[in-house]
Amino acid sequence: MNEIPILDLRSQHRSIRKDLLAAIEGVIDNGQYIVGPNVTAFEDEFARYLGASHAIGLNSGTDALHLALRALDVGPGDEVITTTFSFIATAEAISIVGATPVFVDIDPRTWQIDAKALEAALTPRTRAIIPVHLYGSPAPMGEIMRIARAHNLDVIEDCAQSVAAAIDGKKTGTFGTIAAFSFFPSKNLGACGDGGAIVTDRSDLAERVRALRAHGGRKKYYHEEIGLNSRLDEIQAAILRVKLRHLDAWTESRRAIAKRYNEGFASSHAIQRPIEETGRYNVYHQYTIGVAERNALQERLRAAGIATAVYYPLPLHLQPAYAMLRGKEGDMPFSEAAAKSVLSLPVSPDMPESDQNFVINAVRELTLTLSAA
Ligand SMILES: *Cc1c(COP(=O)(O)O)cnc(C)c1O
Repeated sequence: MNEIPILDLRSQHRSIRKDLLAAIEGVIDNGQYIVGPNVTAFEDEFARYLGASHAIGLNSGTDALHLALRALDVGPGDEVITTTFSFIATAEAISIVGATPVFVDIDPRTWQIDAKALEAALTPRTRAIIPVHLYGSPAPMGEIMRIARAHNLDVIEDCAQSVAAAIDGKKTGTFGTIAAFSFFPSKNLGACGDGGAIVTDRSDLAERVRALRAHGGRKKYYHEEIGLNSRLDEIQAAILRVKLRHLDAWTESRRAIAKRYNEGFASSHAIQRPIEETGRYNVYHQYTIGVAERNALQERLRAAGIATAVYYPLPLHLQPAYAMLRGKEGDMPFSEAAAKSVLSLPVSPDMPESDQNFVINAVRELTLTLSAA
């Protein structure tokens, strides 16, 4: 039996194969393989797409978060507030620069960072906030920016899952001081390898990250500070330029699938669905539901040939890597509950309608059986 994958990248790449191969051949023939014409052009195109002044290509989303913090001089003694319900990279970047992550709980309706919890976690050491636009749905940026302004804090948006998402037409990544994007293959705008970028309106920060990504130097072999090697390579940039042209169409397809799922699950009371609010443009990096019998549902969907995933099974405050912060079960009840109930369903932009119907019916029927048992 053919399994319905959570994301079908091979099919996506098949549809643009000619353009991808031509882009790769162009790089091979051109002879510049690290920062060259494609990286520069992609940086311009990506910044323009988002409505930001600067984009700097890097080699991952993790490095984008890390270098954003470096550029803001966040370091030892500083606290950075973020959501405990995210991928470890969000917190890792804070630790890499020597600062301390302060985890806060989520809003159980949206699974996004809770602005009230964020406000309650402020201390005199707080330097910055990293909101994550989880699953492609915008975090409450109005409230977060109000808190940040009132307390003079920098905001680094983690946009790894939210490229093209927007609030009232303003794209995520343009609200805070600086934003981090990932082009990991499975992200909504994915390379065929690792990649990332920072985006900012501040030219001082852009210039600093540009130097940091190339060993802390503005001129070859002269180094003002310790940097690292974190450049986007030409082949990935050439691929991203091709894919950026399709991003809006792919995003609309994701949203159309999400709309059908939402309608399909509307009468199933055992299923928590993503909330749709006017003005909030969710790009459905994941279409995620909440169900009490999550593990059993996942098992039965797998048996029915439907792949699903759990993002994330363990909140950051309970990760062994953060044991030194002494987080414990019960500290963040909403995130802990979400970790046990969330399940992401297949949402490939080119998913056939018959597969969408198959998923809707299977989820509906299995949840009914499981909640009755
Ligand atoms: C993917 C991801 C990252 C890291 O991006 P990489 O390119 O894989 O390093 C950071 N934060 C979140 C929320 C992510 O989903």
